[in-house]
Amino acid sequence: MIKKLLIANRGEIALRIIRACREMGIRSVAVYSQADADSMHVRLADEAYCIGKPRSNESYLKIDQIIAAAEVAGVDAIHPGYGFLAENAHFNEVCRASGFEFIGPSPQAMEKLGDKNTARKMAIANDVPVVPGSEGLVESNEDAIAAAAKVGYPVLIKATAGGGGKGMRVAESEETLATAFSQARTEAEAAFGNGGCYIERYVGSPRHIEVQVIADTHGNVCHLFERDCSVQRRHQKLIEEAPSPSLPEHRRAAICEAAVRMIRGAEYSNAATVEFIVDAENNFYFIEVNARIQVEHPVSEMITGIDLIKEQIRVASGEKLSFSQDEIECRGVSIECRINAENPEKNFQPNPGKIQSIFIPGGLGVRFDSHVYAGYTVPAYYDSMIGKLIVHRPTREEAIATMRRALHELQVEGISTTAAFHDKVLQHPEFVDGLHDTKFVEREFVD
Ligand code: ADP
Repeated sequence: MIKKLLIANRGEIALRIIRACREMGIRSVAVYSQADADSMHVRLADEAYCIGKPRSNESYLKIDQIIAAAEVAGVDAIHPGYGFLAENAHFNEVCRASGFEFIGPSPQAMEKLGDKNTARKMAIANDVPVVPGSEGLVESNEDAIAAAAKVGYPVLIKATAGGGGKGMRVAESEETLATAFSQARTEAEAAFGNGGCYIERYVGSPRHIEVQVIADTHGNVCHLFERDCSVQRRHQKLIEEAPSPSLPEHRRAAICEAAVRMIRGAEYSNAATVEFIVDAENNFYFIEVNARIQVEHPVSEMITGIDLIKEQIRVASGEKLSFSQDEIECRGVSIECRINAENPEKNFQPNPGKIQSIFIPGGLGVRFDSHVYAGYTVPAYYDSMIGKLIVHRPTREEAIATMRRALHELQVEGISTTAAFHDKVLQHPEFVDGLHDTKFVEREFVD
């Protein structure tokens, strides 16, 4: 039984977890950096501990400080949220070794899936389609040329330790391959301390579709349908929706089943997202597993009515999933817009600063997951997301209309936000028709 839980995170996800704890009768413990002393998660948690200086490598990434806070507070479990240490297998192991339940998969499963080349091999072993590519890591220019010739140009060179779009390079032909290969290797070595790379065929104009999965420790694995996250800028998601507007029903069943096979094969428990790219013919290819709760989890919650954070906590305490696959229904359409403190007019430059005033939208079908309030200063040290505006309506048409009026209602003074930009995307015929791919934003709006 988990009675007290520490949240090793900040911002809206810390609040999201505190909310679940309060409803479950679990005491919540916040940790915060000196820059976050006035944060809502600090105010709303039952207890809070300062763990260091503003920069995340001096606070939210400091494992010893977090464990010390957990010991002082006497918690039973630690929830890592997303980002920071959420997919750090070492942190996962240290939490468990220190006697705290980690709300997530085992360190072993996390480690294996965190390495993209290993995850790719696991996908193949579990009959989950992958993008045609090299057999394992590519060690030399000659290997790279041979592998690329086999899969056909253009190719994508990918770092096995990659994340956040780092260590990825496209090569259009053999002439540019050697340069792209060495760039990807150098970037990956610098960012992750691991320069290992493999090669995949570059899929043109793909859609990004991912499946939300949750598994318990008793062998039950369920999916909560898919999310379409094709509205991206520089590989960063801007708008997510569930279900996908473009996937025919039989492909939808196939992609969800493939995701379940992947997670079952990985002997994984807790929440996971299996990410795919989907080509124009609706072929889907596995790209990676995210072994944590994701930013866009609310759209899956809205269409299924399942509280994913509560389910994560239950599963981590050893309980069985509270539903079976055939009890999960997909109802209506949910869309999420990430509201960032950025200036779309200035190339999405981050725009931290004081929020002079804010009016938060409401009404039927509107949810705003956010940690900000009037008078709050968005710190410059962390990512620029100030909230997630989520709608849920019976049809996609209604969901778009509700999102547009909610974006109109959202009034923020003091900093610029991406709200007006979202409204432009939502009106674009390609988005309205659900025909957009991951290059849509860059093609139609920016860069
Ligand atoms: P990261 O972990 O760095 O985010 P991913 O493997 O998730 O890397 O890929 C990020 C994005 O890159 C995907 O959402 C997709 O848009 C694009 N991508 C990945 N693999 C391919 C591919 N083989 N062909 C075309 N685009 C790809």
